[in-house]
Amino acid sequence: MSGETKTRREADAPRAGRRMFIQSYGCQMNVYDARRMSDLLALQGYGEAASAEDADLVVLNTCHIRERASEKIFSELGRLRELKAARSASGDALKIVVAGCLAQAEGAEIQRRQSAVDVVVGPQSYHRLPELLARAGNGAHVVEAEFPEEDKFGFLPAPTEAATRRRGVSAFLTVQEGCDKFCSFCVVPYTRGAEFSRPVAAVVEEARALLAQGVRELTLIGQNVNAYHGEDEDGAQASLAGLMERLARLPGLARLRYTTSHPNDMAADLIEAHRALPALAPYLHLPVQSGSDAILKAMNRRHTSADYLALIGEIRAARPDIALSSDFIVGFPGESEADFAATMALVEAVGFSASFSFKYSPRPGTPGAERSDQIPEEVKSRRLLALQELLERQRQAFNRACVGRTLDVLVEKRGRHEGQVGGKTPYLQAVHFEGGPELVGRMLPVEILSAGSNSLHGRLKAREAA
Ligand code: SAM
Ligand code: SF4
Repeated sequence: MSGETKTRREADAPRAGRRMFIQSYGCQMNVYDARRMSDLLALQGYGEAASAEDADLVVLNTCHIRERASEKIFSELGRLRELKAARSASGDALKIVVAGCLAQAEGAEIQRRQSAVDVVVGPQSYHRLPELLARAGNGAHVVEAEFPEEDKFGFLPAPTEAATRRRGVSAFLTVQEGCDKFCSFCVVPYTRGAEFSRPVAAVVEEARALLAQGVRELTLIGQNVNAYHGEDEDGAQASLAGLMERLARLPGLARLRYTTSHPNDMAADLIEAHRALPALAPYLHLPVQSGSDAILKAMNRRHTSADYLALIGEIRAARPDIALSSDFIVGFPGESEADFAATMALVEAVGFSASFSFKYSPRPGTPGAERSDQIPEEVKSRRLLALQELLERQRQAFNRACVGRTLDVLVEKRGRHEGQVGGKTPYLQAVHFEGGPELVGRMLPVEILSAGSNSLHGRLKAREAA
């Protein structure tokens, strides 16, 4: 922790009784950021509130990826404005912070649309929150949406053991941020900035601390996580595979995952890691977006559908039981029926275990939004429905194929019903089975008995293993 952080902390010593409520939208990176903000604000004396109604400080950690995500936030801000007005009528204060990608993209415009917002802070500057809140203390509107020179991770406090244990045995760990790929539909390169990889030592240290506090599974995250190229202790560049090899040696680690990857960054050593690294789960989220080469080109994805299929072949050769998931966008400008049929054909050819699919949403400032050949809403809806039906059929078939198998399940929590626990298979499926809370944190063999629509049901195979 740097001297600068200490000075800032001493200057704004904790006050008792303040409570924060942090609401996160969008991707896993936001979940991770929200936790780091919570750790930072806890040092300022903020306890956690169960809702905005119980809080003195509300942080909306926002998403800007699709229009609907942004609109949802403005409607929540309208509600918070009323809450703030009611509070101030009774002599209490409520501070409202908008953080995350919408904050980065819209900056001061957010306060023009919603004057109740005290602080707007982009995803690269939230380590400055204490200072920004102090500035907003006198009713000033504060906006911090620059890309700062310093690395925010160096300024963020480690979570307390109590916070880590509360968050569970599976933790996210950001290793990479930003993106230089500029897909023509995507705002990420503008909101998260240029690609940046955390140094190996910093990641290993954070992982070691999490594992010492009871974490068993780490999911390494980044907008483009497989483009990771962090500096190691010798000044050389480490790949994601190299980083994972280091992490796999840490005591306490039961399982590793990583997300989200770009097909063009699936390096040979990463594919090999799926064969050689026992801790690495046989699951890969590898977004393809479309199965049409014309659309992939227009999206600036820089690979064809044949490239993607060949890559899947290589990955399956290294790890035959790997489960694959993907992201798809339907209705990108210019997408014809034939283009859409190519997407359906690619899905049929691969067979995914799970996927996310979206209607194209034109985002201001991206090349796709400028195009005059936008696809009508009803066409997008029809295509999305057809695609989702196919993906759902594949998901159910994958789940059914697991019935009768015995899978290693990391037990994460008590189940919804008394006497049950819930966890995840290597393929990221939710499973529940009979067992007591003492099993939480254990990796156990579970025979899968049936597949429901959203989770699997199983039976602990070796009671003595428990
Ligand atoms: N970096 C990852 C990749 O290259 O695949 C994806 C990151 S993005 C945060 C998550 C997903 O949101 C994308 O894979 C894409 O399917 C979807 N997405 C991004 N921009 C979109 C847009 N303008 N409209 C609809 N979906 C979008
Ligand atoms: Fe967005 Fe992913 Fe493309 Fe980067 S690689 S621009 S994050 S979709």
